[in-house]
Amino acid sequence: MDWDLVVVGASSAGLYAATELARAGKRVAVWEQARTLNPARRTLIVTPHLWKIFPHLKTPILLHTIRDLVLASSCTQTRVTLKDPDLIIERGALIHALAAEAQAAGVSIFFDRRFCAIESWANGAKIEFQNAAREKIFVTTRDVIGADGVFSDVARAVGLQHPPTVPILQAEIELPHNWNPAVTQVWFDTAETRFFYWLIPESTTRAVVGLVGDASAQMRHILRRFLEREGFMHSRHAALAYQGARIALYEPRLKPATKIGNARVLLVGDAAGHVKVTTVGGTVSGILGAAAAVRALTHNTAYDKELRALTLELALHWGMRAALDRLDNRAYDQLVTSVNPRVQEFLSEHNRDEMAGVAWQLPFLQPGLLALVPRMLWQTLCGRPPKPTVAMQPQD
Ligand SMILES: Cc1cc2nc3c(=O)[nH]c(=O)nc-3n(C[C@H](O)[C@H](O)[C@H](O)COP(=O)(O)OP(=O)(O)OC[C@H]3O[C@@H](n4cnc5c(N)ncnc54)[C@H](O)[C@@H]3O)c2cc1C
Repeated sequence: MDWDLVVVGASSAGLYAATELARAGKRVAVWEQARTLNPARRTLIVTPHLWKIFPHLKTPILLHTIRDLVLASSCTQTRVTLKDPDLIIERGALIHALAAEAQAAGVSIFFDRRFCAIESWANGAKIEFQNAAREKIFVTTRDVIGADGVFSDVARAVGLQHPPTVPILQAEIELPHNWNPAVTQVWFDTAETRFFYWLIPESTTRAVVGLVGDASAQMRHILRRFLEREGFMHSRHAALAYQGARIALYEPRLKPATKIGNARVLLVGDAAGHVKVTTVGGTVSGILGAAAAVRALTHNTAYDKELRALTLELALHWGMRAALDRLDNRAYDQLVTSVNPRVQEFLSEHNRDEMAGVAWQLPFLQPGLLALVPRMLWQTLCGRPPKPTVAMQPQD
């Protein structure tokens, strides 16, 4: 029970980090609170950047691909045809594939072990885990990775702040008959959410329709209302199933690392808030954060330095979200209308995980985008806060 690395949380970011550290010759153990590896079903849309990390996982985890993205505001819409299609994967399949890779690389995975506390110990740290019977298990380790999600117990124990969160809810539905399965659509309606609604086909017959909000209360009611309004509720039941949880949001002031005695404690994935806040996508960015932690631990370098490229990317999305939060429906119409053929081509070639180096080109491709700046400044100067999701009454 003495390890070079203890990783808390057997999800995508944690398992990826564990595998790479084991491949680098470390003795690694992953500790997971769940009794078995059985993650809740979650349909994810991710960029093709995922294949740069896991080219060999195409066959086992790919459900479907999306070629066209339709962006719809209240009075207009535009379409972007992606050069490399977005990928639809199921989170459980990804986690099972990563767990198999971790075990093949020599990682030990322990289930039914909830992280409880950590203290300084000799050259590293001593960690207390508990099982469902509340029995205590103690292990010692040189360093720790906290990959335990949005309400990270590791972060809490070492005094690192949690990221802000928002609720996300998606309904699994039968794909509407007239819907092209290669098309994903997002709807902007600032009267209902400062984020957006979406429909993502996950096969030729099924889709998920979802919403990111600000308040958990009545998310299901708001989503049902949207399903009815758009005519997606053609069967007796609104949805075949629901998938929902809170999702972390990136915040530039969050610290992703600290030390307990000589042990480095690095947070990765949702625990560190490594989520693109424009689209609330955290799968690829969480794994990129885990890759930075692996480099920091294997080369004994500063985590901040290894995170620099990801931080730049996430900060760009954070700035864009701050701007988007100040748009009303008229401004969204203006934004969507300003997606001219040159902007369409730009968006078709550059995916959401690779924007930081190229986003400066946008105002040159469409100077009209700058016309939105005075409106945003005005809203900021007037002190108008970003619109929260309207909590509607059931009778609405
Ligand atoms: C409904 C929904 C839809 C989403 N859609 C998308 C999408 O389309 N695209 C996208 O990129 N992202 C999406 N996301 C976000 C994405 O799923 C997350 O960013 C990603 O799963 C985070 O992975 P992670 O490895 O950081 O942690 P998590 O997946 O949160 O896993 C944390 C793990 O730690 C374990 N754990 C927690 N506490 C302890 C403890 N004390 N001790 C031991 N183990 C512990 C948990 O059991 C869990 O296994 C979505 C999220 C939701 C909720």
